[in-house]
Amino acid sequence: MPQYEDYINWRRTFHQYPELSEYEYETTKRLRRILESYDITILDLPLETGLVAEIGQGDSFVAVRTDIDALPINEQVENEFASTNEGVMHACGHDIHMASILAVATRLKEVESDLNGRVRFIFQPAEELGYGAFYITDTKAIDGAKAVLGYHNYPTLDIGEFAVKSGVITSSVDRFEYKIKGTGAHAAKPEQGNDPVIVLGQLINSVQSIVSRNMSAFDNAVVTIGEVSSGNTWNVIADHAYVQGTVRSFDEDKRNEIEQRLKAIGDGLAKAFNVEIETIYHRLPGAVVNDEKLTNDAITVAKEVGYNVSIMDEPLTIGEDFSGFSQQYPSVFVFIGSNSEYDLHHPKYDPDERILEKVPDYFVTFVQKLLNEV
Ligand SMILES: [Zn+2]
Ligand SMILES: [Zn+2]
Repeated sequence: MPQYEDYINWRRTFHQYPELSEYEYETTKRLRRILESYDITILDLPLETGLVAEIGQGDSFVAVRTDIDALPINEQVENEFASTNEGVMHACGHDIHMASILAVATRLKEVESDLNGRVRFIFQPAEELGYGAFYITDTKAIDGAKAVLGYHNYPTLDIGEFAVKSGVITSSVDRFEYKIKGTGAHAAKPEQGNDPVIVLGQLINSVQSIVSRNMSAFDNAVVTIGEVSSGNTWNVIADHAYVQGTVRSFDEDKRNEIEQRLKAIGDGLAKAFNVEIETIYHRLPGAVVNDEKLTNDAITVAKEVGYNVSIMDEPLTIGEDFSGFSQQYPSVFVFIGSNSEYDLHHPKYDPDERILEKVPDYFVTFVQKLLNEV
């Protein structure tokens, strides 16, 4: 049976060969090889990348989920197992998640004949795109699940720390884009053009007024512009500009209101400056919502296996595509300490591997507890 050292080796190999969302072909093959070497069944599903494995017997089943994709980031951590795929990095710790869920699968495989039901292990692609969960749920392989369990490693929590809350635990994550079409001209003859760069400046200010001027002091939301571009030289008025950013919110009404305000700002500025503005709003994952009973169970189990458990006062503003499961099945998603100086999605993100000591205990115990319930 694989031990802690094997979990570390798995993690390091995944880390060395990261793949972008929807392109996790080698990762899927590697997962398949490991699972098959322990005689674990892989379900025959129409998936390009990712997979669902299964152990146990009987009608009822519990699902455990990990994500498998990496990010388009140039790694700046100097490890002997640093990314060999330039410009791609496991900067969200999905390598940790995969290693730990493989550990859970192999450990439960050891006691398979004693299991009071089945366990399905979800190795989900494309989490970072915000819709990979649907590739799995569309296969119907999780329909009827008693519970779906998941976690994220979390850098500001120390090793041995565990945080959770019932209800909403992560925000919805949306993306917006503005495509501004003006009229180019010689930089010295602005009257002959319609300068999209001026519109861009106004747009940045206006967008930042939504949270400060349209939301009450008690509403929580974030609007951030992450990319702005226009023009490519010093003496030409550009003919187009581009802006994109993200909206994080916790409440469906506020989410709708922000979307409407972004559109109204685009339309208003188009009129005011006589340019064309296309506003595109992409609704990505919704908020992850934890089931109350499962949250209480998670707390009990976490304490049982030795975690120091804290109950979160508020949800996090990060998005998590686990919402694709929590919207459809009773679920619980938790945060487990990985103690890194740098945050998730940072080129220096370097989780403490000792997180792999206890994560498997939590899921192994939790799964057995749920399957043994009448
Ligand atoms: Zn991420
Ligand atoms: Zn992640």
